[in-house]
Amino acid sequence: MITLSRALLTLTLPVVGASVALTPVQAQGTPDIATVLNETYTKFRNDQEGKNADYIPALAKVDPKIFGIAIVTTDGKVYTAGDIKSEVSIQSISKVFTMAKVIEEQGPEKIENTVGVDATGMRFNSIVSIEFSQKALGGPEMNSLVNPGAIATTSMVKGSTRDEVWKSILDWHSAFAGRPLKVNDEVFKSEAATNQRNQAIGSLMYAYGYIKDKPDQATDVYTEQCSISVNAKDLATMAATLANGGKNPVTKKTVMTAKNVPYVLSVMATAGLYDDTGKWLYHTGLPGKSGVGGGIIAVAPGKFGIAVISPPLDDAGNSVRAQKAIIEIVSRLGANPYAVKPS
Ligand code: GLN
Repeated sequence: MITLSRALLTLTLPVVGASVALTPVQAQGTPDIATVLNETYTKFRNDQEGKNADYIPALAKVDPKIFGIAIVTTDGKVYTAGDIKSEVSIQSISKVFTMAKVIEEQGPEKIENTVGVDATGMRFNSIVSIEFSQKALGGPEMNSLVNPGAIATTSMVKGSTRDEVWKSILDWHSAFAGRPLKVNDEVFKSEAATNQRNQAIGSLMYAYGYIKDKPDQATDVYTEQCSISVNAKDLATMAATLANGGKNPVTKKTVMTAKNVPYVLSVMATAGLYDDTGKWLYHTGLPGKSGVGGGIIAVAPGKFGIAVISPPLDDAGNSVRAQKAIIEIVSRLGANPYAVKPS
């Protein structure tokens, strides 16, 4: 297995689309990123394991066959395979970026001392986890990447009106993606009409003092942020911006302060795939984040961001095929930071 840095050194051509052939100057038998992406795409192309989320009615209607893979390297090269035009709603992956925003605006201590930065070990919309997080029981034992913590985190974004808060969240996500993102209105309306559980979570978080004001607005803005529409390349660029110390490697714009990025990645590493985060880290060694829209991102710090979109999910709410594809790619590129050869 070669190291990624070697693959990056020997590859010079950016690849757009799965079918573009590459002739990199490369030692025989060493995989390059484009080959690994294309072979992984082919390997899992017909894998339909899992089931679309249906507790948000609009998500049940999304084409389960969508399968797109993208890697964006920290030097701005873009590699893709499969369907990278189709968009899905970002869902919980947005939690990463709203947490990043609050850390950027108010410092890492703020999140640590309010919402918390510990894994709950429970499902993403667990209400029991809120009970266990109360100070009297040793809390906060929660984080910004599960619904209660995420709704509280959204409530912390600065802005004097709902519009102002929303605009700053959308602009922030767009800066990470490197293009103006939009909301999928059908998904937003569908979730807003059926998210009584999240409304209850917002109210409980308000009752326990995690949310200071307007819990209904926090849940509503959170729901809208989950409906932002993205393709695999958008997500990979967002992940690559984190991999590149907060500077978007494609637009070359600094989006967030480098010293704040590790705080974001650490919560992804402990809680990015909910109660299955341990299993994920066991196989990839990388901070990741999933969403019930079918996307998963992972960040190889200093190297690349990767994203895969495939809507069918497992019981924990994580895309089955995205997990399989990223595990395969990370392993073949030698990108697991825990996997080193003895010196
Ligand atoms: N909007 C979704 C919800 O709150 C996000 C959940 C997810 O992606 N895990 O239920």
